[in-house]
Amino acid sequence: MEIRLEELSKHYGKLAAVDALSLHVRDGEFLALLGPSGCGKTTTLLMLAGILRPTGGTIRFGDRVVNLVPPQERNIGMVFQSYALYPHMTAYQNIVYPLRLRRTPEAEMRQQAEKVADRLEISPLLQRKPGELSGGQQQRVALARALIKQPDILLFDEPLSNLDARLRLSTRSEIKRLQKEFGITSVFVTHDQVEALTMADRIAVMRDGKLEALGTPNELYERPQTRFVASFIGHPPMNLLPATLTYDGGQTTVRAARAELDVPDSLARRLNGNRQPEREVLFGVRPEDLTPSPDGQIEGEVDLVEPLGRDDLLIIRAGDTQIHALAPAASGYRTGASLRLRLDPDRIHLFDPSTERSLFWHQT
Ligand code: ATP
Repeated sequence: MEIRLEELSKHYGKLAAVDALSLHVRDGEFLALLGPSGCGKTTTLLMLAGILRPTGGTIRFGDRVVNLVPPQERNIGMVFQSYALYPHMTAYQNIVYPLRLRRTPEAEMRQQAEKVADRLEISPLLQRKPGELSGGQQQRVALARALIKQPDILLFDEPLSNLDARLRLSTRSEIKRLQKEFGITSVFVTHDQVEALTMADRIAVMRDGKLEALGTPNELYERPQTRFVASFIGHPPMNLLPATLTYDGGQTTVRAARAELDVPDSLARRLNGNRQPEREVLFGVRPEDLTPSPDGQIEGEVDLVEPLGRDDLLIIRAGDTQIHALAPAASGYRTGASLRLRLDPDRIHLFDPSTERSLFWHQT
């Protein structure tokens, strides 16, 4: 089932919680709504669910406008952060609850529940009450309850945030696998970029109620169209430094952190009308694209080393700016040490400081 949001808005007095959001979710797609707290993700999801009524715009499920259709007639399954299981009912009773509301015969309910429990590998747990299940198991029961209705659309609201780190990892891949297996169009709300990057087919990045960017995880990581996306996606975040871009009619050069870099032709060509003799820009480079090396272009001094496990995060002072770089764990760098950082010029980013848009990757 396709979902189309056209200029969808939700206003609370003067506040536009969701502001003219247009978005197409493809049939069978797993789309993440990603953004910082308060950007309008949950409001969007609740409008999809029919719990909140839009103040403007249109929601279409397939060809049908559903703005005024009540939640129970939308054929959606919802999985929340707080699993919302009934504590006094067994897992089985929780799972079949939506079918019981539809007055489905007992035998059919049992058959459906066994089928879905088998797919989710929770068959041995059906007689337990939620209090006797782990967080991950409760989450699977909640998912089974959403799936048993054979919904056209699945809506997830931060379903992993109550799980511990290890369980979150396994549940992440499990939800992704099940979503693909069932092929149900799904919208997943999260403020966790790692969750969105690892699970979603495409990510809609929201900011202040608006759609900031839409793309595959790889597109958003490799070719961020705005400074906001560049700094929100990727961890540790991209370095963004004030810089000067010069063009002498042949070569385009960027000066940042006391270093001078030739912009490779493949990127310089993308500047089009933005080629001026000299202009101020924001220069972006990801910490993972900076490696300590004696022949590095950027010279600096180690301010701090933070062990991250697999890598060390090096916080480097270069001139009056600070740069984050990654080095293999136990790299042995000490505060105060001088070093050089090498970067691959093909992996740099440039943003217009006033519009905050990428000079390389333009909206299509
Ligand atoms: P979070 O990740 O913190 O849940 P979110 O992106 O889901 O954030 P929303 O819950 O959709 O954000 O809220 C968007 C904006 O709308 C926020 O500024 C919020 O304060 C506001 N808002 C939400 N519900 C109401 C309401 N009932 N009345 C007034 N303002 C509201």
